[in-house]
Amino acid sequence: MRNIFLHTLAQTSDSPLSLEITRAEGCWLFGHGEKKWLDFISGIAVSSMGHSSPEIVKAVQEQAGKFMHTMVYGEHIQSPQILFAKKLIEVLGPGFEQVFFVNSGSEAVEGALKLAKKFTRRTKIFSFENSYHGATHGALTVTGTPWLKEGYGPFLPDVFHLKFNSFEDLEKIDFETACVIIEPIQAEAGVCLPADGFLAALRKKCTATGTLLIFDEIQTGLGRTGSLFAFQKYEVKPDIILLAKALGGGMPIGAFITRKDIMQVLSHDPPLGHITTFGGHPVSCAAGLAALVKLLRDDLIYRVRESEFFIRQNLKHPAIKRISGAGLLFAVQLESKEKVKKTVWRGIDLGITMDWFLNAEDCIRLAPPLIISEAELSLGIEMLKKALD
Ligand code: PMP
Repeated sequence: MRNIFLHTLAQTSDSPLSLEITRAEGCWLFGHGEKKWLDFISGIAVSSMGHSSPEIVKAVQEQAGKFMHTMVYGEHIQSPQILFAKKLIEVLGPGFEQVFFVNSGSEAVEGALKLAKKFTRRTKIFSFENSYHGATHGALTVTGTPWLKEGYGPFLPDVFHLKFNSFEDLEKIDFETACVIIEPIQAEAGVCLPADGFLAALRKKCTATGTLLIFDEIQTGLGRTGSLFAFQKYEVKPDIILLAKALGGGMPIGAFITRKDIMQVLSHDPPLGHITTFGGHPVSCAAGLAALVKLLRDDLIYRVRESEFFIRQNLKHPAIKRISGAGLLFAVQLESKEKVKKTVWRGIDLGITMDWFLNAEDCIRLAPPLIISEAELSLGIEMLKKALD
């Protein structure tokens, strides 16, 4: 299998983790024989409800038994999409009225950028240095990670990068700006938190200039950072929110969500402003709804805060220079990139999967499923310390 994997599947680097997974359950990944790994990364912030959650598996099976794809997005009335959109709008609260379901995070970014241009009839876009917004051309243009962009230019015109947490840079947002896209907590940059008042100042500037504010909560949304959405933690509301990753409970789906008066520009003059064949797949919507219901019913956000506290109390080691975190998303800074790589590989030998960041090479990323128990957290921390030794 390893040989076939290396030869027949497109590779994204010359050192894939290449764990051969035969089964996954709860916070555990299983391989052949006795091999198993405690999942401290959740397929990067996707499997928040753990693997093979019975409620999600049941929802997938039931929906697959009724119907799967019937028509391109937006034409047929499909109850899984409607029920999921209704629930999302309910939990997001006022200011979020319509959901556009797509297939991935990158596509949610693309849809939102197009929407902002059409709604404002402006072209200028601001994003932030050290950000990550996706791999497609538009999403990569707004991404603030230069090494990822090498070899793919030219990019979208009229896109500029501001410094995250620079109040001064916010002055560049003007009446020609269509939108500003920001991760309220920069994930790939090594879990960088916004400075006090920064998001509020950004909101104020966007409102004053008629610029749409887009929060990319693809990684931070749905409980990951200790509140249902990061915008609620900072009490700053965007005009458009982007979700993906954990949104489908392990199935592929993304969404951009906004007010009706904004969203409606996609449906006329000309119509079909954004279209997708598979966006909002009924099986993904059914899985996503089951995941969201579980997140709320089991009060997992409270548990995330307890788990965050537990990690902060117990994860101590001389090799750790600094820990930055929000909820169950942690960047553990070591001395060098080499030490990060060595620790992650050693962790795999010991039975724990961790990861690095695209834009913080001296940090290990920890993002276990939100359902993780204290005993599993404790075991994971012990394995991480041993790997650091
Ligand atoms: N935005 C953020 C903040 C992300 O973390 C990611 C994925 N790492 C994306 C966008 C892109 O999502 P996808 O990989 O589903 O296209």
